[in-house]
Amino acid sequence: MEIAPPVVSQTSCAVRILPDTVANQIAAGEVVERPSSVVKELVENSLDAGARRVYVSIRHGGKSFIEVVDDGWGMGRDDAMMAFERHATSKIRDAADLQCVTTLGFRGEALPSIASVSRVTLSTARGGASAGSEIVIEGGVLKEVRDSAPIKGTRIQVRDLFLNVPARRKFLRSEQTESTSVEEVVIRQALARPGAGFTFIRDGRPVFETEPGGAGEGLLGRIASLFGDGMEERLMPVRREAFGMRVSGFVSRPGYYKSSGEAQYVYINGRFVRDRLVNLAVNEGFHSLAPKGLRPMAFLFLDMPGGMVDVNVHPAKLEARFVDGRAVVSLVKGAILEALMAGNRGGEAPAPAAAAPSAANGPAHGWAPHFNSPPPMVHRPAFAEPVAAMEAPVERGLTPQTPDSRDVAAALKMFTGGAPREFSVVGQVFKTFILVEEAGGQLLLLDQHTAHERILHERLTRKYREGRIESQDLLFPAEVRFSRSDARIAAESREIFDRLGFVLEEFGGDTFAIRSAPSILMGKDLSAVAVGVVSSIAVGREGGLDRVAEEAINIMACRGAVKAGQRLDPREMEALVAQLKDCALPYTCPHGRPVALSITQEDLLKLFLRK
Ligand code: ADP
Ligand code: MG
Repeated sequence: MEIAPPVVSQTSCAVRILPDTVANQIAAGEVVERPSSVVKELVENSLDAGARRVYVSIRHGGKSFIEVVDDGWGMGRDDAMMAFERHATSKIRDAADLQCVTTLGFRGEALPSIASVSRVTLSTARGGASAGSEIVIEGGVLKEVRDSAPIKGTRIQVRDLFLNVPARRKFLRSEQTESTSVEEVVIRQALARPGAGFTFIRDGRPVFETEPGGAGEGLLGRIASLFGDGMEERLMPVRREAFGMRVSGFVSRPGYYKSSGEAQYVYINGRFVRDRLVNLAVNEGFHSLAPKGLRPMAFLFLDMPGGMVDVNVHPAKLEARFVDGRAVVSLVKGAILEALMAGNRGGEAPAPAAAAPSAANGPAHGWAPHFNSPPPMVHRPAFAEPVAAMEAPVERGLTPQTPDSRDVAAALKMFTGGAPREFSVVGQVFKTFILVEEAGGQLLLLDQHTAHERILHERLTRKYREGRIESQDLLFPAEVRFSRSDARIAAESREIFDRLGFVLEEFGGDTFAIRSAPSILMGKDLSAVAVGVVSSIAVGREGGLDRVAEEAINIMACRGAVKAGQRLDPREMEALVAQLKDCALPYTCPHGRPVALSITQEDLLKLFLRK
């Protein structure tokens, strides 16, 4: 039996240009993802129009109502009508202009996209005009154009977002989540433009208001007014120019970290971007300074000629592509390391170059808000307390000059493979660091505690894997008193204690006698280690024996290692360096602190201007 070919009607194949309303809705799919994307586009338009004040108000997470009001230069009627046409923009004229856009917008897609999926009312007037214009568009269809009061600037209200795109509406998150996302968008813009004032109102209640900064306020003042006082102490300025680019801004001082990358704001030529590369550079700049799981805060502004970056790779321009990504990484890392090295307290980095030339120099007309009395200033408590305020884990000081040699990993390459090299121990400084000269032309500074910790950690892990950690009987058994629950755990955990090199004996009550202990721990506080091992058992139990051992070995290595502040004789230092050389991963201690810093002969010659 023959199968008839499918019948294809002629009309279904015909290629046609889509009507604008459909094309705009398709574009909206990319540009307008959620209420915060609308706010982002509208605020950008306000800033591009030279606004000195921007007012944002939302209701129900922006799902039902978004309003953005600015005191920018506004639009005449023809322009206002034209602005809703697809690809209508006043910001570029031809492709060549793409290379040197100085405005935030340029694609001419935002207004038509937004208007195609909501009800938009735009009111605007040119400075000095006797009347303004009001335009109403619903679902992309023009409903009304009328005269309005000659307000100073522009007001856009967006109601019922996605009224005609139920699928999108369904995917919106809770009002709380959407509101937070909008707030974040306003914060990003407010950070980039300390020269402009921003007000954010949520469901009728003011969330924050920042005054347009004078010449003095700058970025740090803006950060403080958005995130609360005390940020000055937690941040240090960074600034570096190289490869025809510049980076400036602020990053965490060592010790003030956040539990995620949420407090990393990166701007390229004044535009906020989420850039993996730059974030990576920031985190690497701190290399092992930030403990695992914590990230430094960063407010970084990169400025570079338009030819070095493509900002037109993402519909919402949230990503950028660098012509030379490695140079960017090197610049950012270098800037951070320089700042760590300088450790300069109290310095104020200059405000970013992108700090609103247009906003600051915008039209000098006074701000006449189109809303009732301005709300009071509110501080956001978000960053008030650092997640982890700890001591700077590494002393500031010697960090070599060229970015690449600053890498701990690079510094220690000679320990791993390659031709055998010669090391000679120069001595100990501050009873904490060991100076080592390497024949290849490097000076190494080892942290004696972290280095020893790393050595012990690897050795203990190897022995554990081989079966059992070497132990030694004690002449005088040490006593350890556990809490009731710990005593029960200790009594039930003979096997793991045994493999870790301990022999414990119940002594009565919650007290145990330590009969044998790992050889490396002789002379140390054994009962403290035993308590630590029991807590590792409690913590790591779910992960099985090996997970427990991992935790316990961390504790044993830390307890067993020489301390900072302990005088070492030359033989001990030689032995330490020799053992570190044999480590598989001689870069950091098990907690992520660096073992060594290096400075090359080359660096020294440069520092002393001999080269
Ligand atoms: P783009 O910003 O990419 O040019 P938009 O669709 O966002 O495209 O805006 C279209 C045009 O409308 C802008 O180029 C600008 O001339 C004008 N416009 C939009 N918003 C404002 C505003 N708040 N004040 C003055 N002009 C505006
Ligand atoms: Mg725009």
